Amino acid sequence: MANTEKRPLELLIAAPRGFCAGVDRAIRIVELAIEKYGAPVYVRHEIVHNKFVVENLRAKGAVFVETLDHVPDGVPVVFSAHGVPKAVPHKAEQRGLSYLDATCPLVSKVHRQAERHVAAGRHILFVGHAGHPEVVGTFGQVPEGAMTLVETEADAESVVAPDPDNLAFLTQTTLSVDDTAAVLGILKRRFPTMVAPGADDICYATSNRQGAVKAISEQAELVLVIGAPNSSNSLRLVEVAKRGGARAVLIQRADDIDFGWFDGVTHVGISAGASAPEILVREVVERLGTHFAITEREVATVEENVTFKLPRGLEAA
Ligand code: SF4
Repeated sequence: MANTEKRPLELLIAAPRGFCAGVDRAIRIVELAIEKYGAPVYVRHEIVHNKFVVENLRAKGAVFVETLDHVPDGVPVVFSAHGVPKAVPHKAEQRGLSYLDATCPLVSKVHRQAERHVAAGRHILFVGHAGHPEVVGTFGQVPEGAMTLVETEADAESVVAPDPDNLAFLTQTTLSVDDTAAVLGILKRRFPTMVAPGADDICYATSNRQGAVKAISEQAELVLVIGAPNSSNSLRLVEVAKRGGARAVLIQRADDIDFGWFDGVTHVGISAGASAPEILVREVVERLGTHFAITEREVATVEENVTFKLPRGLEAA
C-alpha cells in the first residue's frame, strides 16, 4: 500500500520516557563485570524488569538466578537494581562470593533512612506493593516487625501502629504520585507526630514519567506504554494515562499491538517504563508506520540529566 493511502495517525511521544539513571547504571554494571571477570557473571533476579534487556545480557554471558543457592562457588554475582535484603550480601560473604551491588542509589537511600529510623527507635510505616523485590529488599534492611506495609488508602485508615507517637514513613520509589499523596494524607491525619522527612521517596524518574504521560493522555485517545507486566513504574504509567482520560495498554513489544485498538483513534500517546530501552519505542513507532501515515510529536514536560556513579573498581574496566 502506498503511504498516501494510509490513514493519518499522530503519535505523541512522552519525554522523559524509558531508561532512568538507575537502570542504565545496573545494566552497565553487568556489562562491565562480564568484561572484567569474563563470562559467566551471575545476576540475582532480573537485573531490571525487562525481558529484552535480560535476553541481551544473557547473550553476552550473564546468568540470571533467583537465589544465591544457584550461584556456583568462585563466580561473581550482581544484585539487581531493586535492592536486596541484608541477608543476601551477608550470605555471599559467608560463601566467599565476590559480589557487585547494582541497587539503584535512590533505593539505597531509602535503605539507609530505614536503618536510621530503627536506630532512633521509630516504627516505620512503609507505603508500597507487597511482594515487589524492592519492598522485600527494604524490609530486609531492618529487624522483623520494625516496619509495617501500607498498600492502600484502606490500609492507611486501618493500620495499627505499635506506638502511634513514635512513627516514621517511607515509600517505594516507583509508586503512583497521586495515590501515594492520598495514602500519606491519611497517615499524616491519623498520626500527626509521624516523622515525615521531606516528601515521599518516589524517585525523579517515576514522577517525571508520570508527569509526561499525564500530558499525553490529555491529548490522545489511546496510550501505549512499553514495559513489562512486573515493572511497577510501567504499570503506574498505564494507571496515570487512564486517569488522564485515555484508553491505555501495556505492551512489551511491537508484536503485542492489536490494530483493532486504533478504530476511531487519531492521536496515540507512547511512553516507556524506566526499564524499557528506546529501541523498543522505535520498534513500536515503525510498526505503526506500516499501517498508518504517522507523524511524530514529542511532548516534553521536563529535561532529565541525572547520572549515577559506577561502583569503585568497575569504572576502570
Ligand atoms: S526507577 Fe527510580 S529508583 Fe528505580 S532504578 Fe530508576 S531511578 Fe532508581
